[in-house]
Amino acid sequence: MASRVRFGAMGTAAVILCGWLSSFGSVPAAADRSFSAAPAPQAGSGNVRGSGKSVERPAVAPGRRGATVGRPGAGSAPVRPGGAGIPGTPAPTGALPPTEEPRAGDPPVSEAGAPRHIDCAKQKCVALTFDDGPGPKTGTLLRMLAERNVRATFFVVGRNAAAEPAVIRREIADGHVVGNHSWSHADLGRASAATVRSELVRTQRAVRHAAGVTPVLMRPPYGSTDRTVAAVTRDLGLAQILWAVDPLDWKDRNSAIVTRRVVRGTKPGYIVLMHDIHPTTIAAVPGIIRALKAKGYVFATVPELLGTHLKPGHRYTKRNH
Ligand SMILES: [Zn+2]
Repeated sequence: MASRVRFGAMGTAAVILCGWLSSFGSVPAAADRSFSAAPAPQAGSGNVRGSGKSVERPAVAPGRRGATVGRPGAGSAPVRPGGAGIPGTPAPTGALPPTEEPRAGDPPVSEAGAPRHIDCAKQKCVALTFDDGPGPKTGTLLRMLAERNVRATFFVVGRNAAAEPAVIRREIADGHVVGNHSWSHADLGRASAATVRSELVRTQRAVRHAAGVTPVLMRPPYGSTDRTVAAVTRDLGLAQILWAVDPLDWKDRNSAIVTRRVVRGTKPGYIVLMHDIHPTTIAAVPGIIRALKAKGYVFATVPELLGTHLKPGHRYTKRNH
């Protein structure tokens, strides 16, 4: 199983397959060319189109143990089909109802977490997503989002979630959605099926233990996925959520640059990739929200954006209108 997909910036017909470090070295300096924008792969198409300029950064939560860094030099390889639907495969619901009672000492469910209805078929939606946390500043971000009545989707690293269960509970209580970003920020596209399963299952357990909900969404670190990841995620009931806008916030720790890239790159139905372990990204969030609201955007969680009948194993980058 040598091939893998490096899911990154898209928009041309090229498929990008490269190791993280080699990708890092090839990320173009031109900021405005760094956006990812692509049609979601069609079911069973097996192809990811992309210009491949973006990569997801490795998880390095300050103060936590060493990050898993993707191995370099994957080189090009054919893209393998990603998770074609299997009849009878249960679909993730997208809804994440708590299965456990709140724990003693938990903050009350905030108004921000109250039920609501967004129709992204009619409204101009965007989904902000934050990877690699919880980090030291995630609480600050959660307060910013709650004050603005904005919900997001958090793809959490399992070991971080296990270390900060109260933050996971806060995310759920505030109406955000929590997805699985592997236990150790592993390069799943290079891992064995057993490792992929272990990384995902441990994180499912950590989130369930923390907040009483079981994720139905996952995002492969570095966007690195392949047929094995598709098969395991299908088996675990996890849809693969990639992105359509990548401001490279891990690389350019500059709030103004991140804000500009997100605001310029966003189109209706897009999923935006950011990282809540970078203070510069968190500082950019109020401006991003203000600018996108001014353009008429509604902030949806990924299930609100894509619907609740996502196919486990499939990859999604945006809403198909
Ligand atoms: Zn990540």
